[in-house]
Amino acid sequence: MIAAESTGTATKGFATHSPDAKFEPFEFTRRAVGPHDILIDIEYAGICHSDIHQAKNEWKDSMPTSYPLVPGHEIVGRVSQIGGEVTKFKVGDIAGIGCFIDSCRECASCKSGQEQFCVKQAAYTYNGTEMDRVTKTYGGYSNKYVIDENYALKVKAEGDLSGVAPLMCAGITTYSPLKRFNVGPGKKVGIVGLGGLGHMGVKIAKAMGAEVTIFSTSPSKEADAKALGADHFVVTKDPANLAPLTGTFNMILDTVSADHDVNPYLNLLGLNGAMVVVGVPPSPNTIHALSLIFGNKTLSGSLIGGIPETQEMLDFCAEHNITSDVEVIDPSRIEEAYDRTVKADVRYRFVIDMGAD
Ligand SMILES: [Zn+2]
Ligand SMILES: [Zn+2]
Repeated sequence: MIAAESTGTATKGFATHSPDAKFEPFEFTRRAVGPHDILIDIEYAGICHSDIHQAKNEWKDSMPTSYPLVPGHEIVGRVSQIGGEVTKFKVGDIAGIGCFIDSCRECASCKSGQEQFCVKQAAYTYNGTEMDRVTKTYGGYSNKYVIDENYALKVKAEGDLSGVAPLMCAGITTYSPLKRFNVGPGKKVGIVGLGGLGHMGVKIAKAMGAEVTIFSTSPSKEADAKALGADHFVVTKDPANLAPLTGTFNMILDTVSADHDVNPYLNLLGLNGAMVVVGVPPSPNTIHALSLIFGNKTLSGSLIGGIPETQEMLDFCAEHNITSDVEVIDPSRIEEAYDRTVKADVRYRFVIDMGAD
């Protein structure tokens, strides 16, 4: 099917117009479906903490917000139109969109399938521009998205798709480092923090075959941690709880975005152990070199994943029946969901029903 030329794609979304403004209906035009594009009728959009930071312009120094802002980079929906050259998708397929929608396709990062590190900077799904660096991008709090098929993900899961949307960011953010550090049977993995990221981390690490411990400041989360599949739950407020675990972990994934000391966790790593940070606390950490030198330990970071690995993660989650635990809301409740997400009062991700089903 070939789209009518240059008429564009009329889209209805929800935008905020300033850091303190409420979300309001917002109509805009996406590009017409080109030869390599697909049109996705969006069913669900997850609420990621980075949506909130950008809606409130809290990253004004590094990524200032361009208003009106339509956030949303955890998108799932159904393909309703395809361009003439499209080969990966057909009409009716379920498709997802994550944090970026295009990249230069020529640099070493792009060629190695790590488009998130494109040297020309990938085109972010919202609060960015297309690679022409002119056309503003609007995210998934909307009813349609037009995207090049090479930057859309195939979703094999059927049935309720609400829990699939958060895989596009929270899922790949945790899957990629677990995979990179060879988590699997016989490995002991610690997940620090049980929120949107942590709950995906425990599900994925368990499905990979590891023995999983959740570290949390909230004793009240123990039942949930066990229900999600964690083998052990450790309350971190009392250092005495950590002492017996010294040197016992192969890998620790730190998902906490509040200020905290990472040194106690480095002490829990065994020989050649690795700790990976995916949360972004406001203040820097101070790490003593000896914490890493003794035991040849690694401290690393991780940023989402490229398209091939994101597809691999979605296929892995479909195979193991992994979705995110979500609370589905109507678009009229975005502000309430933001407030509750900031207070960590959600189990474990809000997902907006965009109504296209
Ligand atoms: Zn995100
Ligand atoms: Zn590139």
